[in-house]
Amino acid sequence: MIARVIVDVPASQTDRLFDYKIPEKWVDFVQPGMRVIVPFGPRQIQGFVVELSEGTNVDKVKPLSDVLDITPVLTNELISLGNWLTEQTLCFKISAYQVMLPAALRTKVKKELHRSVAVEKLDPFIKPLFSESACVDWAKVTEAFPTQLKKVQQLIEKGDLEVRYIVKEKGNKKTEKVISLANKEMSLSAILDQVSKRAQKQRDVLEFLYEQEGPLRTQDLLSQLKISRATLKPLLEQEILVENDNEIYRDPLMGIQHKKTEPLPLTPSQQSVITPIIAALEEKKHVPFLLHGVTGSGKTEIYLQAIQESLKTGREAIVLVPEIALTPQMVERFKGRFGSLVAVLHSGLSMGEKYDEWRKIHRGEVKVVVGARSAIFAPFKKLGIIIIDEEHETSYKQEENPRYHAREVALYRGRYHQCPVVLGSATPSLESFARAKKELYTLLPLHERVGNRPMPKVDVVDMREELRLGNRSMFSRALLEKLQERLKRNEQSVLFLNRRGYSTFVMCRDCGYVATCNHCDISFTYHRSHHALKCHYCGHEEPMPKTCQSCESEHIRFFGSGTQKVEEELTRVLPEARVIRMDVDTTRRKGAHEKLLSAFGQGEADILLGTQMIAKGLDFPKITLVGVLAADSMLHIPDFRSAERTFQLMEQVSGRAGRHDLLGEVVIQTYTPEHYSIELVTSHNYEHYFQMEMLQRKRGGYPPYFYMVLINVSHPELTTVISVTEKIAHFLKSELSEETMVLGPVVSPIARIKDRYRYQCMIKYKNEPKLTKTLRDIQQHYIRETNQGQLQISIDLNPYLFM
Ligand code: ADP
Ligand code: ZN
Ligand code: ZN
Repeated sequence: MIARVIVDVPASQTDRLFDYKIPEKWVDFVQPGMRVIVPFGPRQIQGFVVELSEGTNVDKVKPLSDVLDITPVLTNELISLGNWLTEQTLCFKISAYQVMLPAALRTKVKKELHRSVAVEKLDPFIKPLFSESACVDWAKVTEAFPTQLKKVQQLIEKGDLEVRYIVKEKGNKKTEKVISLANKEMSLSAILDQVSKRAQKQRDVLEFLYEQEGPLRTQDLLSQLKISRATLKPLLEQEILVENDNEIYRDPLMGIQHKKTEPLPLTPSQQSVITPIIAALEEKKHVPFLLHGVTGSGKTEIYLQAIQESLKTGREAIVLVPEIALTPQMVERFKGRFGSLVAVLHSGLSMGEKYDEWRKIHRGEVKVVVGARSAIFAPFKKLGIIIIDEEHETSYKQEENPRYHAREVALYRGRYHQCPVVLGSATPSLESFARAKKELYTLLPLHERVGNRPMPKVDVVDMREELRLGNRSMFSRALLEKLQERLKRNEQSVLFLNRRGYSTFVMCRDCGYVATCNHCDISFTYHRSHHALKCHYCGHEEPMPKTCQSCESEHIRFFGSGTQKVEEELTRVLPEARVIRMDVDTTRRKGAHEKLLSAFGQGEADILLGTQMIAKGLDFPKITLVGVLAADSMLHIPDFRSAERTFQLMEQVSGRAGRHDLLGEVVIQTYTPEHYSIELVTSHNYEHYFQMEMLQRKRGGYPPYFYMVLINVSHPELTTVISVTEKIAHFLKSELSEETMVLGPVVSPIARIKDRYRYQCMIKYKNEPKLTKTLRDIQQHYIRETNQGQLQISIDLNPYLFM
């Protein structure tokens, strides 16, 4: 028997199946989806078995060296998904498989075999292994039964045995000391006879431990009996007591109380939206839905009830939410409804915690996973529904290999499992809404908030006018006044500063004019080094203007301002206000995010000031004012989606105000109040905004009218980067069809990272049959240079990041 293996060498030459002989002893044992160790040249490396076959064309097949798994870590579905990902993103197969698994599985982990049933119930052949303890090292198992691993595997499948991978956390090993009696079979009097009658404290300890069911945390013992460690010492030395290091059960939701919640009776509009979802679920039909519901329209309740339906039919559910929306508040809603059937996956977890959650899914202990992007690969076998909340979020696209979009993976898995996929958003991505318009997705609209709560009232403040009236502060008079009102009424405000711009755009403070490239409709980026404006799409460069091109004012300058600066200003103008600042600096420490939010929720501050991390998932009844300090800062990022992101973000932050009984108000400060992405927030009119935005996209030749590919080249030497990028652009132009546009080469918005120069070129196309082949050819052509590590070429299909 032959195992066909993808090896862990991410390079083009090795991106294919290699054949290995399965040693006789493992013939029934090895299955597709297992990790193995194989000889590869002089080395031993890891790989994944993806197929078994009876024969091979290879002359000298080497045998597998080792099998790392006892049950496959990849299902058949995930194996074929890996192939698909490889085609879609032009990545290596090994990267596609690795991205589906928790990182812990990439490191060397110790395996243990635990028994899950009483020793007497075990199959006689395995019994002797467990004569001394309930768990044995996997190495011992293979030693004892080199040829009977298949039998062990069957016992695992039956549930009598269980394999645990022991993940050693680097740095903070999560263990605690536990203590117990060395011999639990002895009677209490026999135990007490071991110590002197006068050693009362020691006798107390023994009596106390005798009463316990199992080991007790040493710390608890000390505090409950009010004794010191000195009392335990002689008992441990005489081996009357034993102390062990126990792995703490790593609960990512530690400390959160889950109050069980019941399904709410749905409103008529919620009802009309959930009906087709449930119908698709019951008919086992793959239907992609776009749930377009304003903030507070009750989307989450619909997710919850749809999931419940999936569970009822014996199937599972995946819910994706953006990383920053994975707040305790959000998680709580799922845990509150489905309790311990929920696993949670997000980047705040340690490697071991992620692994724990993954293992619960793999072993079928949980039925629902709530997580960020990579949770889309949850190894469920009977998916009933996939939900992507805030589907427009760009964090669903992975910005490293494999550059997949979770939405596309969700649709793939939905087709495979024949189940509905629900994309939900108050502000769907242009791509998704356009697909809904073309009836590729079924549109489910929810136009009103639950309980007819009004949408917040939005005021757009023209900051040019403020300047004209002599107000040079970052707060408009209107915003300041409303902040003061909130302080008086003891209500809360949120101030939002978007500081995503690495780059600075150039704007006239008198008229709001922003310098843009005439060829691309994209804001220029200001380059301090040579005091010039540059377009990062086509490469066009202009000297920094001295006066505004539109009104000839001299107040033209580049922009940028940080949360810290705002906080200083805030304490100056509103000294009595208590402010919580949330940005990358104040939330770096694990748990800081949750702490700050809960402090705000408990009314410990009047104003929450932060970056986009506060835009999502925030749901506090006392927030009645949301202020956006500089709505333009995102609008002028050199990215064709900047208007889309501005509208989405403004809607999103508005949604934080007045979600409960108190009416909400929003103040948006801007230098371009007439821009449709800002103006249309006042009426919360998505449809109108969509039409405006589509017009722009059509004019500029951007998605969803055109597909895009971004090729990024980097190298320590500038001349090499330029010449390689030129060759690539030339090759693309010669290979691809007439209608396809090849833009560049042009220096990347971030021209140099870590001493590597960066250039890019872009492809825009509608229909390009030769695309994949041409891009593969480029990868292949530069393979030697890229393998040596000097040259890097990244190819990003449907890019979201143009840095
Ligand atoms: P969204 O996810 O669209 O922002 P939510 O699901 O958070 O909306 O709902 C907004 C608020 O309305 C929440 O406080 C939620 O508990 C409440 N809600 C949702 N559906 C109902 C319902 N059918 N009846 C009563 N309250 C509801
Ligand atoms: Zn340009
Ligand atoms: Zn001007």
